[in-house]
Amino acid sequence: MTAEIISGTEIAKKKKLEIAEEVKKLKEKGITPGLAVVLVGNNQASRTYVTSKQKNCLELGMHSVLVEFPESITEEELLNKIYELNEDQSIHGILVQLPLPKHIDDTKVIEAISPLKDVDGFHPINIGRMMTGQDAFLPCTPYGVMVMLEETGISIEGKHVVIVGRSNIVGKPSGQLFLNQNATVTYCHSRTKDLKYHTLQADILVAAIGKANFITADYVKEGAVVIDVGINRNEAGKLCGDVAFEEVKEKSGFITPVPKGVGPMTITMLMFNTLKAAQMVEK
Ligand code: NDP
Repeated sequence: MTAEIISGTEIAKKKKLEIAEEVKKLKEKGITPGLAVVLVGNNQASRTYVTSKQKNCLELGMHSVLVEFPESITEEELLNKIYELNEDQSIHGILVQLPLPKHIDDTKVIEAISPLKDVDGFHPINIGRMMTGQDAFLPCTPYGVMVMLEETGISIEGKHVVIVGRSNIVGKPSGQLFLNQNATVTYCHSRTKDLKYHTLQADILVAAIGKANFITADYVKEGAVVIDVGINRNEAGKLCGDVAFEEVKEKSGFITPVPKGVGPMTITMLMFNTLKAAQMVEK
C-alpha cells in the first residue's frame, strides 16, 4: 500500500482564504484583528517563526506588532509589557515566542496573558476549558492536526489514536482533542515500555517526539494514518520529521510530510485564533 499524502500546505491555503474572507467582513465593521508577537533575545529559529507569523498576518489583512526585547530583560519588565498589551484595544491576540531566557519563568508569563487574548491556547484557563469540552482557544499545532484530518475526511470516532510525546504544547493537548472527538487514546513517552507494541495498534499514529526519522515502518500498522509533528534536521542538515517518511509511506494509508505537513497548519490556526479573538470583541 502506498499512502495518500496529506498536504498541509494545500489545506492551509484553503483555510487561509476562509480566514481572509472573515477578516474582510470584520474590517468592514471597523475591527482589524491584531496580533502582538513578543520576542525575547536573538534565537535564530524563534526569529524565523516570528517573521513567518507576521508575514501571515499581513497576507490575511491583519494588524501585527512585533515587540522585541534583549535577552537581558527582567521578568518584571516583560510582565509589565504583557499587562499593557492585555489593555491595548488594537491587539486581540498575544503570543510570547518560546523558549524564553532561563531567568524568566515561562509559566508566569503565560499566565499573565489575558485568557481572552491567549491565541496560543497555552493559558491554564484555555487548557481547562478544552479539557472540559467548552469553547476555548485551542493550541495551534494539535488544532491544526485535527483540521487536517477533518479536511481529509478521516473519521476519528472509535479509532485507536496513539500519541508518541506528552509535551504540554503538542502531545497532551493532541490526545485531549482526539478524546473530545470520541477516539480511544494511548499516550506514549520516553518511559513507555515496548513502544512498538503500542504504536502497532494505532489506527491513527501521531509522532511528536523531536527525533529525526525515529518512527520506522516496523512501528506502523498497515494502512494506519500517520501524522508527523516533528521538525528536525537530519545528519545532512535537511529538514525532516520524526517519521521515516519514505519507508512509512509504503505501509500507511495516509501520511503527512515534513516540511509542508503540520507546520503550515500550526501558523494557520494561530491566524484563525487571532480572528476568533477579534470576533469575540465584536460580540
Ligand atoms: P518535547 O521535547 O517537549 O517532547 C518530546 C516528547 O517525546 C516527550 O514527551 C518525550 O518523553 C517523548 N520522547 C522522547 N524520546 C522518546 C522515545 N525514545 N520514545 C518515546 N517518546 C519519546 O517536544 P515538543 O512536543 O515540543 O515537540 C515535538 C516535536 O514537534 C519537535 O520536533 C518539535 O520541533 C516539533 N514541533 C512542531 C510543530 C509544528 O508546527 N509542526 C510545533 C511544535 C513542535 P518524556 O516526556 O518522557 O520526556
